[in-house]
Amino acid sequence: MAASSRLISRLTLVTGGGSGIGRAVCQRFASEGASVVVADRNEESANQTLELLSRDHKGQGHLALGVDVSSKDSVEKLVTSIQVKFMCLSCFLAAPPSVCVNAAGITQDEFLLKMEEDEFDKVIEVNLKGTFLVTQAVSKALVSAGAVKGSIITVGSIVGKVGNIGQVNYSASKAGVEGLTRTAAKELSKFGIRCNCVLPGFITTPMTDKVPEKVIDKLTAVIPMGRMGEPAEVADACAFLASDDSRYITGISIEVAGGLFIG
Ligand code: NAD
Repeated sequence: MAASSRLISRLTLVTGGGSGIGRAVCQRFASEGASVVVADRNEESANQTLELLSRDHKGQGHLALGVDVSSKDSVEKLVTSIQVKFMCLSCFLAAPPSVCVNAAGITQDEFLLKMEEDEFDKVIEVNLKGTFLVTQAVSKALVSAGAVKGSIITVGSIVGKVGNIGQVNYSASKAGVEGLTRTAAKELSKFGIRCNCVLPGFITTPMTDKVPEKVIDKLTAVIPMGRMGEPAEVADACAFLASDDSRYITGISIEVAGGLFIG
């Protein structure tokens, strides 16, 4: 099947869809024919992504919804709203998203010796617990609906593998996301649900815009491909993992990092 039509009629949920990597995933999925639910804590930015999708890929039933992924109540409401909105009108069966990308994430950087407990907790709550809550809610809905296939994609980070100065909270959260993904893959395979992780390196987004230029210059110097990545390059890997082109792949992590930290 042509790469541009691999997700026709697939209902997809993208958290963090209002910005950066999440927005690029929404655009890539819509370009492959998917109906995209853009979910973000920032509803204004989610609506901006929706406007882009509605302009470029009309008539596919895209939707924007607010969510705080660190809140169980908010995540459950999100999944219920999607199922009500996309209910099959002839059979009255709820339709959960069969593809989910967990791109919502935050940083709150500080050196280990200076980090406050709440700075540690907040990052774990959004990045790790948020991924758990969304993955659990979506997979429960898929299993209840008797779905035969699903693809859940988590977003870790290369720094979850190698660590990064000033990111003890963030690197711990992202290492946790990889472990969660591998375990979810083992438990959910029997329901036809695959779970895989993408590990971006340093990607140009509002998240990395906060990093001082001299730090970016130092980082770029050690990336074998000699540049930071683009959100669309992470979205390409997500589209592969979402599609049937990866139908025998589960529990893996794909590094999208320009060769950073090879080996
Ligand atoms: P970004 O800041 O551009 O986008 C993150 C989005 O998540 C924002 O729209 C934000 O509103 C949303 N969000 C934050 N907290 C939320 C919450 N509690 N509930 C719902 N939405 C919430 O960042 P990005 O660079 O696009 O990052 C996307 C993902 O990729 C994150 O998980 C990040 O950790 C990961 N990542 C990014 C890089 C990079 O270099 N940019 C590298 C590795 C991993």
